[in-house]
Amino acid sequence: MDISRREWLKLVGQATAIATSGSLLSRAAAAQTNARILILGAGAAGAALANRLSEQLVGGSITLLDPRPEHWYQPGFTLIAAGLKPASYSISQTAQWLPRSATLLSEAAAEIDPDSQTVTTIQGRKIAYDILIVATGLRLDYESIEGMSLDLIGTRGIGSVYAGPALAEKTWQLLDQFTQTGGHALFSRPDTEMKCAGAPLKYAFITEDYATRRGTRDRITIDYCANNNSLFGVPIVSEKVRMLFAERGIDTHYNHIMTAIDADRQIATFQTPQGAVEKSFDFINVIPPMVAHDVVRQSPLPWQTGPWAAQGWVDVDPATLRHKRYPNVFAVGDVAGVPKGKTAASVKWQVPVVVDHIIADLSGRESVEQYNGYTSCPLITKIGRAMLIEFDYKNNLTPSFPGIIAPLEELWISWLMKEVALKATYNAMLRGRA
Ligand SMILES: Cc1cc2nc3c(=O)[nH]c(=O)nc-3n(C[C@H](O)[C@H](O)[C@H](O)COP(=O)(O)OP(=O)(O)OC[C@H]3O[C@@H](n4cnc5c(N)ncnc54)[C@H](O)[C@@H]3O)c2cc1C
Repeated sequence: MDISRREWLKLVGQATAIATSGSLLSRAAAAQTNARILILGAGAAGAALANRLSEQLVGGSITLLDPRPEHWYQPGFTLIAAGLKPASYSISQTAQWLPRSATLLSEAAAEIDPDSQTVTTIQGRKIAYDILIVATGLRLDYESIEGMSLDLIGTRGIGSVYAGPALAEKTWQLLDQFTQTGGHALFSRPDTEMKCAGAPLKYAFITEDYATRRGTRDRITIDYCANNNSLFGVPIVSEKVRMLFAERGIDTHYNHIMTAIDADRQIATFQTPQGAVEKSFDFINVIPPMVAHDVVRQSPLPWQTGPWAAQGWVDVDPATLRHKRYPNVFAVGDVAGVPKGKTAASVKWQVPVVVDHIIADLSGRESVEQYNGYTSCPLITKIGRAMLIEFDYKNNLTPSFPGIIAPLEELWISWLMKEVALKATYNAMLRGRA
């Protein structure tokens, strides 16, 4: 579908108006309280929660723990690694996003004891809470890939879009060089839950597109290794990506899980149903297994059985994000043990639900608000084109602009949503206005 610049500006205006109107859920009347609210993590979810809660509480206290003073706008990492933005595009100061009424302690939570309702920080400070919100995101487990470490990123053809703004920029330098000289490129995704499951696919598409634009495509071969027998968790999207990969000459391998890397020999090893398989590379985008941080994994909060227990995701009700065994504990964002929702766009829909439940608890009423699993992935397929994929827990496609943005079409407007509109919406969300 073609869309004029005027129509685009109108649409962005509408999107931003939706983003900043606070219209996702009607806000409950303020709650008078003495409650001590503790938020672990001041990233996308933690900051948004603090702002929304501070607007709706009279009295009480909001304390956030986060050891990293920098806030990272992670959806920007793909644009940095595509050479379109500098590393600084994704960096701001956490404190600038938080409400004045909240207290930010630059300490990491080290121990959570939901029975005594306390959290102990790495410095040994013990903090008592009445309501706890776990928003610590996730840990990138590079070390579980044998031979892999962060200091390899940017050397010997080893890139990684995930490891922060500076390393995303180093990844771009490698990709830039690789698409001029040529060779074999290797892409994969881990066998755990992961944030932004579209990101590994996007980077394979971007690599192919750069080589085509530079006239070096015939010097390049590309392998994409999926961890199971699909390319994306929503079947219709997986099929569309399969067709696009086939069209663009990206070779797909299923049931390949990366287990080791030999940097000197430039070889990655994959576990497959046929045994270990070695693949050489001149450029690789390493995407590590993703698990909850140790402070969460070692607490009583995770799932108790199954793969989500091993990965440490918090055992919450998928509709309310309230802990199933500790009703005064919630988990929001990447750390929540729910079937979808490890995107910033999901956080935008999760936060108002959790806030409404907390305000209802403090006001002696019952909240009926529910999160439906909304997840969004602007899947870049070329520089200047993307598919705006939005879906829920049931794998229904849930387009925000039906009739204007078709989810499975490669559109310029969907690209602009990622490149321009997403950051404004994200910032509005951090401030509690989306
Ligand atoms: C490459 C990439 C591309 C992406 N693209 C998109 C996209 O296009 N669209 C989209 O919607 N989403 C995208 N995402 C996903 C999105 O960024 C995350 O889902 C979102 O940031 C999750 O928010 P969060 O608050 O749960 O975690 P985070 O924003 O990661 O925040 C977690 C915070 O917890 C803190 N923390 C960690 N441990 C502790 C501790 N022990 N104590 C206290 N604090 C702690 C951290 O310092 C951090 O500040 C992308 C992510 C990546 C990496």
